Amino acid sequence: MPPMWNDVTRPLAVGLLCAASACSTPPACPGAAFDEAAMTDDVTWLASPALDGRAPGSAGDEEARAFVEDRFACLGLEAPAEFEGYQQPFTDSEGNETANVIGYLPGADATVGGDILVVSAHVDHFGDGRLGANDNASGIAGLLAIAQAFSEGESTSRTVVFAVFGAEESGDEGSASLYAGAPDELPTDDFVYDVNMDMIGSYTQTGTVWALGSMAGTPGRASLDLLVEDYPDLDVGLGEPSDQSDNQEFCLAGVPYVFFWTEDPDCYHRKCDTADRIDYPELVEIAELTGDLAEDLANTSADLRAAVEPGTDVCGM
Ligand SMILES: [Zn+2]
Repeated sequence: MPPMWNDVTRPLAVGLLCAASACSTPPACPGAAFDEAAMTDDVTWLASPALDGRAPGSAGDEEARAFVEDRFACLGLEAPAEFEGYQQPFTDSEGNETANVIGYLPGADATVGGDILVVSAHVDHFGDGRLGANDNASGIAGLLAIAQAFSEGESTSRTVVFAVFGAEESGDEGSASLYAGAPDELPTDDFVYDVNMDMIGSYTQTGTVWALGSMAGTPGRASLDLLVEDYPDLDVGLGEPSDQSDNQEFCLAGVPYVFFWTEDPDCYHRKCDTADRIDYPELVEIAELTGDLAEDLANTSADLRAAVEPGTDVCGM
């Protein structure tokens, strides 16, 4: 018999980061960012049979978004004033009512504080027994760990938006919806970079994590060339463009990106994409590298609005 929704207990109530009582006021999360056990809990919950793969508009999709909202609140992220909580509702191309979950930390610098760095990952998958642990519970776990590290650290120069997109699998519909209806306090004209995670949990399949979009001449590449030295256990693939995830919506709007991805030849979009086969130690390292890149881009004195060299192929088209 399948579990009844009333029987479902979120890891917020039982896990390591947020006891339910600690997630009301004051909004603070106990536990360390990038904790492997906590990230394992996040992936395991999001890819649990109870959420059945988080298909847009499904009960599992709603529950997953509620989980992300609870975590954003717990971490003290700002919610756009014109949204309901952190959620930006939209109807996808198949008529499903779903939403993005958008939280942010304001930039502290008087000059570039209005610049917006977007850290993104999609939460939806296919459902019907396809649970999407690597695609993309892994990316959400990474995003939540980075959000925790940023919320607990010093303010960044630029504003950092944490964007959890819906309906990516049907064609980047969540990121397109953010562009179509961004809140007044986060205008898309101020977006300067996207750091996207989609499938970061299958490192050992090929022994490489790709930092797609990090072509020579981009600020992301300049940063990664130095950062990879801090991760000797990771082979980081640099330089290739990709139009295969939400970063493409940013790119089409002229915003450069780095898209972290691990190839998953065995279980891509298959029912075997389950939480038990995620490479958790490497997931932690990839999330930390992604967070380091986001921190660099959020704080660099380089003018990100003018920093991509003319002619650089940032969209991979
Ligand atoms: Zn995906």
